[in-house]
Amino acid sequence: MHPHRTHTCGQLGQIDVGSQVRLSGWVHRSRNHGGVLFVDLRDEHGLTQIVFQPGSPTHEPATSISAESVITVTGPVVARSDGNINTALATGQIEVLAEELDIASVAEALPFPVAEETQVSESLRLRHRFLDLRRQSLHQRIQLRSDVVASVRRRLGDLGFTEIQTPILTNSSPEGARDFLVPSRLHKGQFYALPQSPQQFKQLLMVAGFDRYFQIASCFRDEDARADRSPGEHTQLDMEMAFVEQDDVFVVLEQLLYGLFTEFTDWEVSSPPFPRIPYADSLMRFGTDKPDLRFGLEMQDLSSLFGDADFRVFRQIVETGGVVRALVIEQGAAQSRRFFTELESWATEAGGAGLAWLTTTADGFGGPIARALGQELATRIVAATDAGEGSAILLFAGPEAATASLGGELRLHLADLLSMRQEGVFRFCWIVDFPMYAADEETGGIDFCHNPFSMPQGGLQALVEQSPLDILANQYDIVVNGTELSSGAIRNHRSDIMLKAFEIAGYSAERVEAGFGGLMRAFALGAPPHGGIAPGIDRLVMLLAKEPNIREVIPFPMTQNAQDLLMGAPGSIALEQMRELGMRPADRKPMSHA
Ligand code: ASP
Repeated sequence: MHPHRTHTCGQLGQIDVGSQVRLSGWVHRSRNHGGVLFVDLRDEHGLTQIVFQPGSPTHEPATSISAESVITVTGPVVARSDGNINTALATGQIEVLAEELDIASVAEALPFPVAEETQVSESLRLRHRFLDLRRQSLHQRIQLRSDVVASVRRRLGDLGFTEIQTPILTNSSPEGARDFLVPSRLHKGQFYALPQSPQQFKQLLMVAGFDRYFQIASCFRDEDARADRSPGEHTQLDMEMAFVEQDDVFVVLEQLLYGLFTEFTDWEVSSPPFPRIPYADSLMRFGTDKPDLRFGLEMQDLSSLFGDADFRVFRQIVETGGVVRALVIEQGAAQSRRFFTELESWATEAGGAGLAWLTTTADGFGGPIARALGQELATRIVAATDAGEGSAILLFAGPEAATASLGGELRLHLADLLSMRQEGVFRFCWIVDFPMYAADEETGGIDFCHNPFSMPQGGLQALVEQSPLDILANQYDIVVNGTELSSGAIRNHRSDIMLKAFEIAGYSAERVEAGFGGLMRAFALGAPPHGGIAPGIDRLVMLLAKEPNIREVIPFPMTQNAQDLLMGAPGSIALEQMRELGMRPADRKPMSHA
C-alpha cells in the first residue's frame, strides 16, 4: 500500500465499501458522539468521515489530535446507515474505520480557524497566508485563477499564438511608474530595472519574425497601491501580433474575453463586436475613460444655452471658457428636497462649484432655480436634454476637465443611490483615439499620454504638422463595467517617426539611444507593422470571481503599503552584501543582518 494514500479525501463512494484504504489529510473538524470519535479528514479534493471506535488502538491517540494536524489513517470503507448519509458531501455515503493512525505533523494553536471562515484581520491572514489559502473560498479562487490561465493558454494556442518568456533583469521600459532597480555586483554603480511591462521585448519578438506572441508576465511598478491594483507587482496577459490593424486586435480580444467570461461566469456578456467609444466622447458622455455601461444616465453639454443667457453664474463660467453639463434623472422629480440638498453637499465635498436642479412637472418647472432660469431657458434646457415629464435635470458647471470628472463621479454616485446598475451583466467597450501626448502638470512640458510606443494617427506628417496636444494615437483601452482591463496600441515601427515622437516629448537623441537603442536598431533592420494589448490577469480573475478586493485573487499578495508579511520583505541586507554591490548605507548606521 502507498505510504501516504490510496485515494484522495474526495474520492470514495458506495462502490468502495469493503475495500481497505489509506487516506492522508488535515483534521478539519472532530466531534465525539457517545465515545465514538468522528473526524472529517480534508485534502484539496474533499472531506471524508473517519471513525475512531472506542476500544480500537487508534481511539486514544486520536482524541488529542488538534485541528489542522496532518494524519494518515488506514482501514476499511463502510457504508453509513441510512440516517447518517450526508447528501451534501460527495463522500457522504461512506466512512472509513480507522484501524491504523499515523500523525505526520501536529498543528499548534491556530491563529484563526480554517474550517469556519470567520472574519479575520487582513494582516493576520497575510502573515499566515499558507493557512488562509487552506480556507475553502480563497483556495477556490486560486484554483479558478489557474483554470482561467489554462483556458487562456488553450484559446491563444488555438489562435496561433506562441508563448515566450522575456527577461526579468533588464533595462527600464516606461509605463508611467517608477522602476524597481537591482544593483549589479559585476558592474558596480550600475543597475538592472525590473520590467514595468515586457513592452520592448514583445516588439522585438515581432521584428524577430514571431507572428503572434503571448506571455503570462510579471510586471513590476513602484507606485502607490490603488483599490484595484496591488502594489509592486502584477501579472499581465501580454500579447502582440504582427501585420495587424486595430480591428484585428479587437477581434482576437473579443473572441478571447467573450469566451472566458461565458466559460467562467453565468452572467450575460456583451456579444462581439463590443462598442467602440472615442476617448473625447467618453469624457463628454461619462466623465471618464472607464465608463460603466450597466446604466444610462449620460451627461449632456448645455454650454451653448448659457453663453448669452440671463442666468449670470453659468453665463460667466461659459464666457471664461468653462462648460455647463447636465444629467437627467428620469422620474427624479418625485425625489424629496432632502435628496437634492444631499446631492448638493456631496457635489461640494467632491470639489464641485455647486449643483443646481430643475424638475419638470405637469404644471411646469420646479426646483430652486426654476424662477431664475425663466420659462424660455427652462424650456430650451428640457428640449436639449430630452427630459420627459417628471424628470430631474441636474446642472453643474466649471472648467471643462473638472466638470467632466465631477459629472462622472456624480453619475456613479447616483447609480449607487438609485440602484441603477443592471445586475448580472458584463458590459464591455473599447475606448479608442486616445491623445498621443498630454501636458505634464508638474513640469508644464509635453509628455506621452501612455507609453511612447504607439503609432500616431497620421504618422510622421501628424507629428510634423499638428500641435502635439491635438495628435491622436492608435491606442485603445478595453473596459468592462467601469474597470479598465487593459491598454494597447498599434505600435510605431519606424525609427524616423519614433525619433520625432520622442523629440516632441523632449527626449534627446542620446536619451533615446540609451533607453531604446535596441528597439531603434531593430526598427532599422526590417520591422513589421504590429500591435497588441496586455489585460491584467489579477483584474480579469477578480471580475470572473466577482470579488472586489484584488488581494483575494492573488496567492501571495503584499499589503497595501507594499510589504510581504509572510516573507518579511522588504528587509535589510548585511553590510557585506552592500559592500559587494558597491553600496554604502545611507544613514551610516550599522545594518541589521539579513
Ligand atoms: N505595455 C502596455 C501596458 O503595460 C500594454 C500594451 O500596450 O500592450 O500597459
